[in-house]
Amino acid sequence: MIGRPSVPRSGWHPATVVANTPETTSAARLELEVEGWPGNAAGQHLDVRLTAPDGYTATRSYSIASSGPATGDVTRVVLAVDRVPDGEVSPFLVDVARAGDRVEVHGPLGAFFVWQPAAASAAAAGSGESDAAGGPVPSAPRPVQLIAGGSGVVPFVAMAQAHADADDATPFRLLYSVRTPADVFFAPEFERLVSASAPFRLDLVYTREAPAGWPMAPARITREALAEAVLPASDAPLVYVCGSTGFVERVASWLIELGHDARAIRTERFGGT
Ligand SMILES: Cc1cc2nc3c(=O)[nH]c(=O)nc-3n(C[C@H](O)[C@H](O)[C@H](O)COP(=O)(O)OP(=O)(O)OC[C@H]3O[C@@H](n4cnc5c(N)ncnc54)[C@H](O)[C@@H]3O)c2cc1C
Repeated sequence: MIGRPSVPRSGWHPATVVANTPETTSAARLELEVEGWPGNAAGQHLDVRLTAPDGYTATRSYSIASSGPATGDVTRVVLAVDRVPDGEVSPFLVDVARAGDRVEVHGPLGAFFVWQPAAASAAAAGSGESDAAGGPVPSAPRPVQLIAGGSGVVPFVAMAQAHADADDATPFRLLYSVRTPADVFFAPEFERLVSASAPFRLDLVYTREAPAGWPMAPARITREALAEAVLPASDAPLVYVCGSTGFVERVASWLIELGHDARAIRTERFGGT
């Protein structure tokens, strides 16, 4: 396992929405300027708190699509929120939140579901840190397999971007299950990452509608399709799985059946089935 990164301390921060743009047919990309943000590692999330005029508050977690150190008093943080029909918070963030709106964010959160370049992991190993399970931190980089369902890809665009920015040689793969081509999050970013010099491969699985000429009929991912698409257990990859609770649990149990070491599988569940 890679080492537990040295991540900034979390706290509550005032934030201003500076942009809300359509990301997919049901999701929006939200850019926030966060006051006093300490920076975040790729893969971390934060809590957004909304406060109504009568003082009622609602708080939900969102993965961070950006990463990096603080950039002064105010740091730009990118989120992508999918609208859950009849949800309390996500329809507001997708359809109502506008530039200038004020929210509060708590974070960064999650020190385990992160990826750092080999150099940073080696530095953590040199510092004598142990991983979250208490084991020693190996300095050798390990291949990485990311597996996302729908909006579960948000932390992975941050990881893949961090990998490209570091020009890291670690093999990086993303298996991304998505309903239709119009539902792909961060499509231009992933297109650029595929042609960047750091080794990054994207495998898309369409579950409802595929582009014309796509070699596979649309279908939900199966254990067999997973076995064909992901790095084999013999390569000892670190595997990150993110999406709805049902998707994550299904995929994680298949990975174990395929021989992957449970200690090398990191999961993030967004809720829902
Ligand atoms: C660590 C973490 C990171 C997350 N990152 C993201 C992210 O980057 N982008 C994003 O869009 N969401 C993300 N989520 C999910 C997010 O926190 C909310 O759960 C989601 O936006 C729904 O909130 P809501 O208030 O609209 O719905 P609620 O009012 O809370 O729920 C309404 C109904 O929808 C169901 N439901 C709740 N969440 C989901 C879901 N995710 N999918 C399907 N049904 C659901 C509930 O069971 C309930 O029946 C993340 C969750 C966690 C725990």
